[in-house]
Amino acid sequence: MKGFLSGIGEFGSIDHIKNMCGRPGRGLVGIGDDAAVIRVSPGMVTLVTTDMLVEGVHFDLAYTGFEVLGYKSAAVNLSDIAAMGGRPRFYLVSVALRPQVRLEELEGLYRGLESACRPFGVRLVGGDTTSSFGSSSGGPLVISVTMIGEATPGHAVKRSGARAGDDIYVTGSLGDSACGLAILKARGTEELNKDEALLAARHLRPTPRIMAGRLLGEGRLASAMIDISDGLSSDLGHILEQSGVGAVVYKDRLPISRDLMQTAGIKKAVQFALHGGEDYELLFTARPSHRKKIAALQVEAGISFTAIGKVTAEYGAVLVDEKGQGRALRPSGYEHFRK
Ligand code: ADP
Ligand code: MG
Repeated sequence: MKGFLSGIGEFGSIDHIKNMCGRPGRGLVGIGDDAAVIRVSPGMVTLVTTDMLVEGVHFDLAYTGFEVLGYKSAAVNLSDIAAMGGRPRFYLVSVALRPQVRLEELEGLYRGLESACRPFGVRLVGGDTTSSFGSSSGGPLVISVTMIGEATPGHAVKRSGARAGDDIYVTGSLGDSACGLAILKARGTEELNKDEALLAARHLRPTPRIMAGRLLGEGRLASAMIDISDGLSSDLGHILEQSGVGAVVYKDRLPISRDLMQTAGIKKAVQFALHGGEDYELLFTARPSHRKKIAALQVEAGISFTAIGKVTAEYGAVLVDEKGQGRALRPSGYEHFRK
């Protein structure tokens, strides 16, 4: 569709979204009323999470198209449901848009959102639409997604369940996204070699580990879990703090992709893996008695699990190098409002 939002206005935009994304299912109410009517499966508890992406803080339209932005906004919320061991079901989207936004861009945004959600049967049931003015060029683009999911009662995996002696695992590989972002910032999306393009894609289109999270939750295999949005050092810090424990992490066990190694070299790759954010991999702890079951789960989960360390009784995290020497691993991932 051609034209600008200023041409069809708020209600025209909402109608357009409604037609694009369809209805939530029989007996339920989605877009178009004062509130949505949804239902989780019988006997399940409801999980709710929300995450906002702000232009200039979380993304730059210079290298993030509307479709990628939509995909990522949904993916980061799906990742939060995964990190609880749950199953995502419904979502809402609130947007602040400049009147100069093109209808094709709005369509791209929702195409991206739907491309992240539809494969998991997750349906759009509402949201809010507002204009963003501010300066003469318009205010920042803001997109906020609320994701609703479900979990078996007592099976949702919290950050607080880690115990001394547990193994510490991560899914997939670490650091790719942060290196991808550095590449995008320096050079944009043009003329990247194959490795660089893969790293950039890891930043722009992260894969939420939904199946891995669900299997770990439903199998009661993970004692604590979090998704890595701010970086391993910071997100591990959250688990340790909330569980009242410490950790040892082995540097040579960090899962680093070949692409990252080739592009950044070992030294920088390790720094990206330790402190770089937005990998959206899962970080979890588990009793050593579950080792076999966890190893066997990788095939069904469609992703590797790597044991990177152990939970300890003494508070604080220690990074052990190849020579067996330890030093404090301080949270140094991303934090808003901090310089
Ligand atoms: P109200 O005035 O009651 O807040 P709105 O006009 O804001 O109602 O919204 C009308 C319907 O459209 C609601 O079902 C709302 O959830 C949905 N909606 C509004 N904006 C969006 C959006 N950006 N994406 C999806 N649904 C939306
Ligand atoms: Mg409204």
